[in-house]
Amino acid sequence: MDLLSRSIERGSLPPSLIFAGADTRDTALAVAQALNCQKPVHSSQVPVDSCGTCVACRRIARGVHPDVVIVEPGENGSIKIDQVRDVVDRAGYRPFEGKRRVVIVDQAEALVVAAQNALLKTLEEPPATSVFILLTSMPDLLLPTVRSRCVRLTFAAVDETAIDEDARDVAQRVLQQAASLRDPARRINAAKELHPKAGDTGAVARDQLAAYLRAMASLLRDVEVLATGSPVGLANADAAATVERLVAAYGGERGVKAFAAIDRAIDALDRNAGAKVVADWVTLQL
Ligand SMILES: [Zn+2]
Repeated sequence: MDLLSRSIERGSLPPSLIFAGADTRDTALAVAQALNCQKPVHSSQVPVDSCGTCVACRRIARGVHPDVVIVEPGENGSIKIDQVRDVVDRAGYRPFEGKRRVVIVDQAEALVVAAQNALLKTLEEPPATSVFILLTSMPDLLLPTVRSRCVRLTFAAVDETAIDEDARDVAQRVLQQAASLRDPARRINAAKELHPKAGDTGAVARDQLAAYLRAMASLLRDVEVLATGSPVGLANADAAATVERLVAAYGGERGVKAFAAIDRAIDALDRNAGAKVVADWVTLQL
């Protein structure tokens, strides 16, 4: 927050930001408060901080400030293009009562590819009165074109998706099998490849499954990129043939739903859910 506070004080906060890490929503809200506070506090430790008690600060904390907009996944687990168009339109107007409009996109990895593309122009040249903050624990699942337009601040616990090839092989096999099997019992059988190995502790099993799930998410994101007609910026460019084989099954709505289910599964692992249960559940959702 120090760095952020200093740039807010100097008026040099970049208008398009990625907060990479887990649980960054409070930090983003603190930025929104510091930008809109009616009685900002200055001290030697923190150049500018919000008071936490004025009307603006309290409204932001309660999520009812008209100029602080939070975009998050809907019930199908993805953030759709309409949600993005709505905030892009609103960002064009002056703030209603605050000083700066702050648009916070929570779980930005859930933005469908079309929604990410719809954001590009705004991230490139945001209106002077707006700040966009994308929150994600999986920054590498955002399109390269989105990442390149934002200044990235990394907080603790980022899932760096340096997808290792073994994990990708497993991920691809499970996706392919799930695509061809309807029978739940046979799908559960396909999930065995994701199950913990004998002797793995709970934590090791969760880490291993998380690696498989990230590989799946990365493949599905690439499938979505290919399906929208642009082969540019594939995270798995070295495995383009693998990605292409998955397009027929996962190129549409099914891929978006599967991606959202994987996101939820990774979230469940973060909350210490058992790896085997999560593996079975997610395989049934693909
Ligand atoms: Zn305040």
